Amino acid sequence: MTAVHIPGVPVIEAGRLVSTSPATGVEAGRLPVATDEDVRQAVDRARTAGEWWAALGFTGRRTRMLQWRALLAKRIEQLAELVHVEGGKPVADAIVEIVTAIEHIDWAARNAGRVLGPRRVRSRLILAEFSGHLEYQPHGVVGVIGPWNYPVFTPIGSAAYALAAGNGVVLKPSEYTPVVGQWLVDSFAEVVPEQPVFTAVHGLGDVGAALCRSGVDKLAFTGSTATARKVMAACAETLTPVLIEGGGKDAMIVDSDADLDAAAEACVWGGMTNAGQTCIGIERVYAVDAVFDAFVDKVVARAGQLTVGAEGTDIGPITMPKQIDVIRRHIDAAITSGGRAVLGGPSAVQPPYVHPTVLVDVPEESAAVREETFGPTLTISRVRDADEAVARANALSYGLGGSVFGRRRAVAIARRLRSGMASVNSTLTFAGMSTLPFGGVGDSGFGRIHGEDGLREFGRAKAITRRRARSLLPSMTFERTPTDVARLVKAIKVMYGR
Ligand code: NDP
Repeated sequence: MTAVHIPGVPVIEAGRLVSTSPATGVEAGRLPVATDEDVRQAVDRARTAGEWWAALGFTGRRTRMLQWRALLAKRIEQLAELVHVEGGKPVADAIVEIVTAIEHIDWAARNAGRVLGPRRVRSRLILAEFSGHLEYQPHGVVGVIGPWNYPVFTPIGSAAYALAAGNGVVLKPSEYTPVVGQWLVDSFAEVVPEQPVFTAVHGLGDVGAALCRSGVDKLAFTGSTATARKVMAACAETLTPVLIEGGGKDAMIVDSDADLDAAAEACVWGGMTNAGQTCIGIERVYAVDAVFDAFVDKVVARAGQLTVGAEGTDIGPITMPKQIDVIRRHIDAAITSGGRAVLGGPSAVQPPYVHPTVLVDVPEESAAVREETFGPTLTISRVRDADEAVARANALSYGLGGSVFGRRRAVAIARRLRSGMASVNSTLTFAGMSTLPFGGVGDSGFGRIHGEDGLREFGRAKAITRRRARSLLPSMTFERTPTDVARLVKAIKVMYGR
């Protein structure tokens, strides 16, 4: 019997995961569903392949990864079209996503040796007769579980850094975007044909759960906070270390000295790009009283011009059909609790699309302010001053990114946001800066991808001491004498006793 196809809802047919466009229902591709045993075997193969890959050294891996980066750059239109068909996002958004991923591959490849490679560290007066050596060795196999909303950028944010660090990688893409995931591993295999260093396993959530229990040496998860809890619980059984990139409810603060046109432009993009389905998307805005009305007018004017539809528009369909219920519930909750829609509103929900919606006067207790909406919706709240804005922005358990518009106090405000990242006078830009770490606090997760911290996340520190000379003040030996200990006491008082 053939399964019924609802556009965008993945189905399993004859052991294959069938992926379709949420806009048109056109099939994007079908891939074999992995059993638990398949997952284990993929991890075993990645372990052997990873050893071979690690043995290439930083220079050998850099060469291959730069070839991979070049392949992605040459085929950017092809990949963007696939991302568009499978997930529904406009081609231009897909291009921007892939550009960012390419930048991360390039940086990780070029900098892994410098950040992770063996180096001397300074010793201090205590143990001055020893030299210190530090390097970051690969974990072995890293399991990467990715979401559907940025099917290139998010897996690569972990995988490129893990690969550059010398690990084998097994990817479990979201069931909504398996074909893009397979495209990524196939393109890598073109430049690394010798061994299955980077492979994918496909299926529903249970395949992700199997990957957590498959013996991977580290698990990098990007997805919702609810699933993150399950992933961490599964990994706890074997003490497998995890990196969690969870959900968010990012706030933007508009201070009294902000450039309101720039703020409105960035707010609309930060909140509505990819139809608002962005972990670091702006979902809440706190604008100070003095500029509130003018700012809201400018946001509504810009957001009202965005086009919605399947092809050539600013906003595509909602990728995951069941998310539409969440968006509808949040808009309804905002209105019934006393909020007003100054653009869009309940009628903006026209599956598979949601038109831009701007809500004001929404109480802070509303689900529209507290929970991740993942749609092209914004709540804009009036606050007395920047202090109140910071207090409200920090009131949720999420803490991923954030944005501040202003002049004099903007950086100080950004530093006070309880989040892993913030952009001043822009939105989302920290995601594209490969030299900066990316990650959250609280319910948004822990650990970092990108930048030097992102590389270190995928290597374990190996510390080595090496004797250079005889110890003048022997302490870590049974050969020490009472005089040695007395001298040690004297030395420590001179050095640290003041
Ligand atoms: P989900 O949490 O539903 O799924 C994420 C991944 O986990 C998918 O591959 C999913 O597989 C898999 N999975 C599901 N159940 C399990 C399980 N029990 N064990 C292991 N893996 C499992 O998130 P979405 O895919 O819906 O992505 C959207 C979420 O991701 C949002 O909350 C968003 O904020 C967050 N996100 C965070 C980012 C960050 O960097 N912090 C970046 C991008 C998104 P399947 O799809 O087959 O169910």
